[in-house]
Amino acid sequence: MFDLAGKIAIVTGGSRGIGRATSIALAQAGALVLVNYRSNEDAARETVRLIEDAGGKAEFVAFDVADPDSVDRSIKEALARHGQIDILVNNAGISIDQLLLRVSAKDLEMTWATNVNGAVYCAKACIRPMMKKRWGRIINLSSVVAESGNAGQAVYSASKAALLGLTRSLAREYASRGITVNAVAPGFIETDMTADLPPAAMQGIVDQTPLGRIGRPEEVAAAVVFLASEEAGYITGQVVRVNGGMHV
Ligand code: NAP
Repeated sequence: MFDLAGKIAIVTGGSRGIGRATSIALAQAGALVLVNYRSNEDAARETVRLIEDAGGKAEFVAFDVADPDSVDRSIKEALARHGQIDILVNNAGISIDQLLLRVSAKDLEMTWATNVNGAVYCAKACIRPMMKKRWGRIINLSSVVAESGNAGQAVYSASKAALLGLTRSLAREYASRGITVNAVAPGFIETDMTADLPPAAMQGIVDQTPLGRIGRPEEVAAAVVFLASEEAGYITGQVVRVNGGMHV
């Protein structure tokens, strides 16, 4: 439907879950996709295989988004290979769910380092070539809980709310350079991240969701592809909510 032929995209955390579905969907639209992962090389290879088997183009690239030197080096190497990065999807994220009284300094630091710092490092590494080309798309994966809050997810939801501030500020900072910056805020989506939720908690989520089910990674990926497209060129600084009506 949307044509991304000739575009180079990087999806952080593209090895699994929403990142994998997004990598596949961007490749289906014609982009060459750099599938980033941190440690699960088998899963990243599988994402690349799924894309190539469907006739798309992809390669995997390992780096920890929380390590600024590694981000910088890997993105420079990717730029040297491909000449450009047109689309950055800041998808890599972790969730360490704890009540406030159990949150450790390490949990806080790890969550922030991956979810917030990682998005800043990747945007910083990609922005200059996008500015030169006067075209770019940055899409940050936030969450429904950034806006609704959730007991047991204070640190995670704060990190996802930080991404909304980042999105709105970068949108203003780079609009004049032809770069749009938007967020996608999923509700509860069927991935490894939600796989360990106890059945009662899952039922509670379904009961709070007007569409009566949790979401599929492909349903989030579709919103990312739209925001990456030429057709979304007049949308910037926005939050696209893919949450089954859980938060309206
Ligand atoms: P997931 O299944 O747990 O996958 C997480 C992905 O992030 C993996 O590919 C993982 O790589 C990668 N990753 C984690 N830390 C990284 C790091 N430091 N550097 C590079 N890659 C890293 O997660 P998901 O459910 O697909 O979630 C994807 C995004 O959507 C996250 O930002 C999450 O917060 C957000 N989100 C998810 C939901 C949901 O219900 N699932 C709801 C709202 C928002 P490895 O494979 O190498 O470990």
